[in-house]
Amino acid sequence: MMSQRSEFNNKDVTVYRAEWILPVSSGPVRDGAVAVSGGMISAAGPAREVINSFPGARLVEFHHAIIMPGFVNCHSHFEYSVFRGFLDNLNFGRWLLEFIDFKSRLSADDYVISSRLGASECVSAGITTVAESMYSGKSVYAIKEAGLRAIAFQEALGMDDSRLGETMAALDASLDELNEQQDPLLEIGVFPHATYTVSAAMYKAVADMARRRQKKFATHLAESKAESAYIRSGSGVLAMDLREKVGWENLMREPFGVTPVKYLQQWDVYGPDFLAVHCVQVNGPDIEVLAKNGVAIAHCPKSNAKLGCGIAPLPAFLESGIRVGLGTDSPASSNVMDMFGEMRTAIFLHRGSQRDAAVLDAAECVQIATLGGARALGMEDRIGSLESGKQADLIAVDMEHSHFTPIYDPYSALVYGASQEDVFFVMVGGRPLYEKKVLLTMDEEKVSADARAVKEKLWG
Ligand SMILES: [Zn+2]
Repeated sequence: MMSQRSEFNNKDVTVYRAEWILPVSSGPVRDGAVAVSGGMISAAGPAREVINSFPGARLVEFHHAIIMPGFVNCHSHFEYSVFRGFLDNLNFGRWLLEFIDFKSRLSADDYVISSRLGASECVSAGITTVAESMYSGKSVYAIKEAGLRAIAFQEALGMDDSRLGETMAALDASLDELNEQQDPLLEIGVFPHATYTVSAAMYKAVADMARRRQKKFATHLAESKAESAYIRSGSGVLAMDLREKVGWENLMREPFGVTPVKYLQQWDVYGPDFLAVHCVQVNGPDIEVLAKNGVAIAHCPKSNAKLGCGIAPLPAFLESGIRVGLGTDSPASSNVMDMFGEMRTAIFLHRGSQRDAAVLDAAECVQIATLGGARALGMEDRIGSLESGKQADLIAVDMEHSHFTPIYDPYSALVYGASQEDVFFVMVGGRPLYEKKVLLTMDEEKVSADARAVKEKLWG
């Protein structure tokens, strides 16, 4: 009778078992299991203990695999997925100028199609949460279709203060519209684009709006030397060519004589709800400012390297106690949204540039890509680790291939050997989105075919 009652009680519990469980908030467990019920994690630990705690639960055996928390991608632009591999060899400033032309060629429908490509890629790569920066606002539909958890940030641009009222009213209206996309997995934020596209007055106004509407707030900050030159001395490609291109050439431009981080500090935008994306061109005092104000950083090592921007000082951020997550940035700048690739790029860049193999380790990289990202986004109470009471956002990585053989340390296998292709199961909030390498929420073939058609239509 007892066992029958237990079976009845646990019929809504599913236990996933694998050779390795990486809870991230605690050490790896060999022959581990995770119990999921009602969209939440009920237990994670040694398989025997978990299975015995939930008699009658459905058991799913993943065998020679690693179960870990889904990746938290702290910076993406799904809308630009159709630009993958298009402008591969330009420095940041020139890249941006060219990019503006291509962006204007996409229709609203094209942006939806492009966003679907990004969302489907993220799910199949084991990314379960994204901090998505939206130019058109269309990626919110793709995020919902895919079943991802997200903070969808509405971007805003504006240098002409005579039109500030208009620009802010438009942003307010966009936020109202986005708020109608109610979804328990979705949070809306605001994203003034960057120091060279948003005026000081607008930064202040957006910061006020974010506080008033209780929205998280993010910006691209200190990404390139071009941005530093623009802020410090009012010179360079962003001061001249960009302004001319977008019709801002007659606006006042003054050299501010400081770094981008110090420049923004003047406008009272920093705080724990503020996410600074990139932070490559920063010095010691800048890092102190960011740390003192509790600012979080999205580190995008691959994008920064590919666009010739440089290497953000991740070890110094971590030493200062700054919350840091990893971001793939858009496929237009980093080509693939693969957090394994980001972890690997990060550890190689930082060790290589510092000529020191003691810089970072594989476990730290996995932590930054999961729980670290959750902390950076202020979501660590819900996601980022496999712990009882957290949302069931988890993935399974197949260890059958030769590049995983043998395994001494699962963290090492993931960081130095794995890629997005090795993910075969993805769950968000207890809902499987990807199973046996098949996307359950979207028609992957149609998503790719539609994206190819956009490319053909616009560029042949
Ligand atoms: Zn970006």
